[in-house]
Amino acid sequence: MLGPTLSNITKNLAEVKQQIHDAEVLFKRVPHSVFLLAVTKGQPIEKIEQAILSGQLALGENHLQEALPKIMAFPDKKLEWHFIGLIQRNKTKKIAEHFNWVHSVTDPYIAKRLSDQRPHHLPPLNICLQVNVSQEKNKLGIPIAEASALASYCAALPHLKLRGLMTVPMIKKTFPEQRAEFAKLVALFNDLNEKNLQLDTLSMGMSNDMQAAIAEGSTMVRIGTAIFGARLSLP
Ligand SMILES: *Cc1c(COP(=O)(O)O)cnc(C)c1O
Repeated sequence: MLGPTLSNITKNLAEVKQQIHDAEVLFKRVPHSVFLLAVTKGQPIEKIEQAILSGQLALGENHLQEALPKIMAFPDKKLEWHFIGLIQRNKTKKIAEHFNWVHSVTDPYIAKRLSDQRPHHLPPLNICLQVNVSQEKNKLGIPIAEASALASYCAALPHLKLRGLMTVPMIKKTFPEQRAEFAKLVALFNDLNEKNLQLDTLSMGMSNDMQAAIAEGSTMVRIGTAIFGARLSLP
């Protein structure tokens, strides 16, 4: 039998999926156009296993050291691992080897290393550029004005596939203010697609601002605490 905490994860996942669906309907989005990435950072293996058993195969981590043992713990599963944190230069090889996606590309040197170090038997590494839409100091992400140049550079790297843009906006209390931050990323996304970059991914929306992100056009929400509860550590 499942313990109460573990069965809660199945229930929480179902609730989050229902909320995504409700937001798609409310904001006239195409049904099933918003993909759920379950963010497992700071969560123990047992909870991750429960999510996987409930059918959640896309998982996100933001520290390599924490992620590797988790990735190794589920070797046969058809899992999709997404790296969503700060990328240190000496970590690019392992990231290129073990992840399917990287959402947090912010500099050409890192992008080049990820491409060079992506094993050739694997498909190109899916990447998003992380953009600091709220222009916060000490926040990861490139300024909007630098995105076009970095996007063109990454699009030309042979072992990367530039999929889109990611953001973690400044925390805002009201729904309209939350939407306004996401709208900046959408405007940039549309600009880049007019330059024929063929982006298909807007990685935006977390536990506290998922509805606003879906209202603005998110195609991938990254949800941690709403599924797994509070994190053990706060990376
Ligand atoms: C931790 C984290 C999330 C998930 O945040 P929750 O508020 O727990 O849903 C999403 N994206 C990034 C980049 C994160 O670091």
